[in-house]
Amino acid sequence: MGRITLERVQKKFGDVEVIPPLDLTIEDGEFVVFVGPSGCGKSTLLRLIAGLEDVSGGEIRIDGTAATDLPPAKRGLAMVFQSYALYPHMSVRKNIAFPLKMAGMDEEERRRRVDRAAEVLNLTDYLDRRPGQLSGGQRQRVAIGRAIVREPAAFLFDEPLSNLDAALRVGMRLEISELHERLKTTMIYVTHDQVEAMTMADKIVVLRAGNIEQVGSPIDLYRRPRNLFVAGFIGSPK
Ligand code: ADP
Ligand code: MG
Repeated sequence: MGRITLERVQKKFGDVEVIPPLDLTIEDGEFVVFVGPSGCGKSTLLRLIAGLEDVSGGEIRIDGTAATDLPPAKRGLAMVFQSYALYPHMSVRKNIAFPLKMAGMDEEERRRRVDRAAEVLNLTDYLDRRPGQLSGGQRQRVAIGRAIVREPAAFLFDEPLSNLDAALRVGMRLEISELHERLKTTMIYVTHDQVEAMTMADKIVVLRAGNIEQVGSPIDLYRRPRNLFVAGFIGSPK
């Protein structure tokens, strides 16, 4: 399960309102992309959902349960950080198992979950290596593996491909889409890249200065942009 609702969720930093009160529903199993120019509030919105920032107002619900005041670890969501957040001195297996070890899971169950995640991600042959012995794409997969083993209600990605080169980015984009097909778990994916948004999303949320300009499927936004901002954003290739 992974239905997430935001009701009048607002964020201020000091006196500056970065996210005016907004409503949004993300259905279980949806691949939702937050897209918009740099500084529009994409990361802040994702961090509010993850619990890494406190809301200034409003309510967040995850599968019907009030989550607004829950710490990140209690929300059942997994934030996928960029591959550089891996521990260089630990093996791939230990890197992937790390959140489970922190949660106090026994070794047998940890091993089972890491083996299964490695299989899904084609990392089985690399479990004994260190991150420095892997390609950029493999390292990104390890970062995703670390999220998969927690069996979260939703995966949250913040521009996970932005530090990869162009060719690798295309490959990883396909891999993440395939992963969604296989797991059918809710994914929220932040990007400023229109191509990623149009090719990956079931539903696109277009943000400008913290406001939702439009929500819809890629084809909806392409055919019926609500205003020039959406049209310009969706229409202009990178
Ligand atoms: P995006 O991810 O779309 O580039 P962010 O969510 O990072 O945008 O930032 C949205 C706005 O909030 C920006 O103006 C940014 O400067 C501001 N902001 C983000 N985090 C903080 C913070 N911790 N303190 C003050 N301002 C912040
Ligand atoms: Mg950001």
